[in-house]
Amino acid sequence: MSKQIQAIRGMNDCLPEQSGTWQWVEQRIRQVVASYGYQEIRTPVVESTDLFKRSIGEVTDIVEKEMYTFDDRNGDSLTLRPENTASVVRAGNEHGLLYNQQQRLWYMGPMFRHERPQKGRYRQFHQFGVEAFGIDGPDIDAEVILLSARLWQQFGMAEQVTLEINSLGSNEARAAYRDALVAYLKANEAALDEDSKRRMTTNPLRVLDSKNPDVQAALADAPSLLDHLDDASRQHFDGLRERLDDLGIKYRVNPRLVRGLDYYNRTVFEWVTDSLGAQGTVCAGGRYDGLVEQLGGKATPAVGFALGMERLVLLLETLQLTSEVPGAVDVYVTAMGEKAEGYARRLSEQVRDALPGIRLQNHCGGGNFKKQMKRADKSGAVLALIIGDNEADNQQVGVKYLRHDREQETIEDSALIAYLRSNLSSEHN
Ligand code: ATP
Ligand code: MG
Repeated sequence: MSKQIQAIRGMNDCLPEQSGTWQWVEQRIRQVVASYGYQEIRTPVVESTDLFKRSIGEVTDIVEKEMYTFDDRNGDSLTLRPENTASVVRAGNEHGLLYNQQQRLWYMGPMFRHERPQKGRYRQFHQFGVEAFGIDGPDIDAEVILLSARLWQQFGMAEQVTLEINSLGSNEARAAYRDALVAYLKANEAALDEDSKRRMTTNPLRVLDSKNPDVQAALADAPSLLDHLDDASRQHFDGLRERLDDLGIKYRVNPRLVRGLDYYNRTVFEWVTDSLGAQGTVCAGGRYDGLVEQLGGKATPAVGFALGMERLVLLLETLQLTSEVPGAVDVYVTAMGEKAEGYARRLSEQVRDALPGIRLQNHCGGGNFKKQMKRADKSGAVLALIIGDNEADNQQVGVKYLRHDREQETIEDSALIAYLRSNLSSEHN
């Protein structure tokens, strides 16, 4: 036998036993974004490398060490998208969606980062995100946060995630804060790790984001971003807080929350959980009023977030909140005998015509009653239709419940559709 080829490290298969959960999660997300009037945008997974360098920032973890970058056959430098905000802005500029307009968009799809794979951290992972353009007030910040909060509520995990918010202020305010922070870091340099020392000169705000507990301890008395806010940003932040208070959305103001991408200003936020170990951030976002212009468009305010789908699914599994995920099969149709097989197949097609939402699996491969019932059970179906040559002759089917203690019944085939409609809908509600 020749050696088997394996998947790339950190890039996972989604197997049949998991894909049901993923579809269920995706469907609920689609429902929530639709309920706020957001529209989907789909962009390519590959973009010019410059797009990410110019948006995410040269001195960030993503651009410095996580991107999958390669030259294509023309010698152009391309990159597998590590995130999607830059791509959405690129597409918005390219197709004239942003100037003088409001857009509420969402996306879902794979992203790529060359990180050390571990629980909740992969090299191909999936994000769902929303981006709202053309609105500069805190009302839209509150809306995207509210939309994310509705998701946790929908999945029954509202108690397990916490909202943290902060304001980065204007570019000018941040520059002033930067000086104050650098002075503090210099004075406490001995307590910093190598990464933070390097960041101190290249991108000092990122030191605040360090995951090293010693560095975090050294930051205890660091100056606070919130003390350096400009008046307009402070008002914006207060406006957001008022709206969250009004809606009963609980949050914690975390003055050290800075996010790992350079394009944010004013509002930033994260939804965190302590149920996933080190990979505790499930969803993160903020305002990026400068990015559209930075990527060649006309200045357009914008706010959005990205949610890590793998972390969401892991959280659902950890908290055992997936009991509503439907199985793949509702009804398993057995057929014992040649006449029975044709009859069962024709009847099944009629059922599919009449009940397009039903999941009906026909037994294939023959075998005796016992073998077919074993398959029926394994399929996860709620009930099996029992069809032999006798039933075919009499145009009847036997109905056997596989998960409930209930008498087997015999139904005229003309009554089958109505029977399934009433008996299955009660099962699935
Ligand atoms: P982290 O601090 O965990 O590295 P990040 O700040 O790099 O996250 P963002 O770029 O803000 O993450 O992406 C938004 C969300 O996407 C994260 O909160 C997380 O849920 C998810 N995410 C980011 N990187 C990965 C990854 N490598 N594998 C799985 N999910 C990820
Ligand atoms: Mg990261």
